[in-house]
Amino acid sequence: MTVRTAVIGGGIVGVALARLLSGRGDDVTVFEKEARLAQHQTGRNSGVVHAGLYYAPGSLKATLCAAGRVKIRELCEEKGLPYREVGKLVVAVDETELGALAEIERRSIANGVPDLVRIDDVSRLREIEPHVAGIAAVHSPHTAAVDYTSITEAMAQDVRAAGGRILLGHEVTRVAVERGGVRVVTRISDEAFDRVIACAGLQSDVLAKTVGADPSPKILPFRGEYWEMTPESSRLVNGMIYPVPDPRFPFLGVHFTRGVYDSVHVGPNAVPALAREGYGWMQISAKDTWESLRWPGAGPLAKQHWRMGVDEISGSLLKPLYYRKARRFVPELKMSDLSHKGAAGVRAQAWGRGGELLDDFAVDQVGPVTVLRNAPSPAATSSIAIAEYIAEHYLGPAAR
Ligand SMILES: Cc1cc2nc3c(=O)[nH]c(=O)nc-3n(C[C@H](O)[C@H](O)[C@H](O)COP(=O)(O)OP(=O)(O)OC[C@H]3O[C@@H](n4cnc5c(N)ncnc54)[C@H](O)[C@@H]3O)c2cc1C
Repeated sequence: MTVRTAVIGGGIVGVALARLLSGRGDDVTVFEKEARLAQHQTGRNSGVVHAGLYYAPGSLKATLCAAGRVKIRELCEEKGLPYREVGKLVVAVDETELGALAEIERRSIANGVPDLVRIDDVSRLREIEPHVAGIAAVHSPHTAAVDYTSITEAMAQDVRAAGGRILLGHEVTRVAVERGGVRVVTRISDEAFDRVIACAGLQSDVLAKTVGADPSPKILPFRGEYWEMTPESSRLVNGMIYPVPDPRFPFLGVHFTRGVYDSVHVGPNAVPALAREGYGWMQISAKDTWESLRWPGAGPLAKQHWRMGVDEISGSLLKPLYYRKARRFVPELKMSDLSHKGAAGVRAQAWGRGGELLDDFAVDQVGPVTVLRNAPSPAATSSIAIAEYIAEHYLGPAAR
């Protein structure tokens, strides 16, 4: 019997799942509220295919990133989409960062990052990135740049070719579990399915709530802002230059990325967004902000990270502060080399009642409804592997 499956969310993870299930014979419908696919995190990120350097060995992030990287590369080959292995340096600028760099090296080795090299020789560092400042680094030559929007579109074509439907402009307002199935309601449709999988990114806790799942973890939106480098100054960067991240925080820090279309951007920072889809300081949702402020975890989180919060917000509002952070890694950079702000993205970061920021991917299930509750970076890299993981662990044998 054909399984009628609804996927909520037309980002890269929802579409990867729809492609997998339609390829296995499910009757798949994707509901996407926007007029186009990949309009939120998927289309507003750094475009990096991560090689798995940072993640706790054995975590879902570590295993699914390693598997997902290979699958994204194969998909790009199959579809003729650009995939550029520009490589990445994680650079320690001074001695205080050597301990954290050693931990990244340890994790990278445990995670099987291919061809990773530790560099302690500054002249070798400069062979890879001639304009970088630093005393040591790890180099991941297979970290790549891609266009995740094109990848999502290409996977959507496979869904359609397998007979699946992709309904754009269909915001799901209600998911009701009923005897023998689930109803998915939008303003213009009301249909019954055998099962539903929600991959709704910034709205994943809202969807979870409608089906009676635990309100925790909630989504805390963190905006990431980028500055674009002028074409002339982009020669200062060959591939990707990353800082050694602060291990207390789940974000990687402002970095230089040579993108798949050859422009270089600097970012993203991490500032609290005042709306789930708040791409600038003027986009404010009183409801979203109030809900975050009254979440039990708000006090503990603010207490732990207020200093970093002030620092990030200042850098967002004052270009010289953002520039100063970037120049630490490329001293030749001039403030005028950061020509304009690029499109910002908002990360859907799950946080618990105690104020803890969830690090790993997380999935929840309420009867026939499966909800992806935390899919932060590297979920774009890992998307095809996340889809396989959900199918294997959460969907019944009918899915296979
Ligand atoms: C600034 C930034 C930089 C990043 N850099 C990288 C990177 O370099 N590499 C990497 O691997 N990852 C990166 N990430 C993370 C990556 O972008 C995300 O993990 C990934 O895109 C998540 O995909 P998704 O499909 O779960 O979510 P999304 O892309 O956010 O898609 C969710 C979709 O659900 C839809 N939706 C929500 N509610 C409803 C509803 N009620 N009805 C219908 N549709 C609904 C939304 O419109 C949206 O299209 C970055 C993220 C950000 C924000």
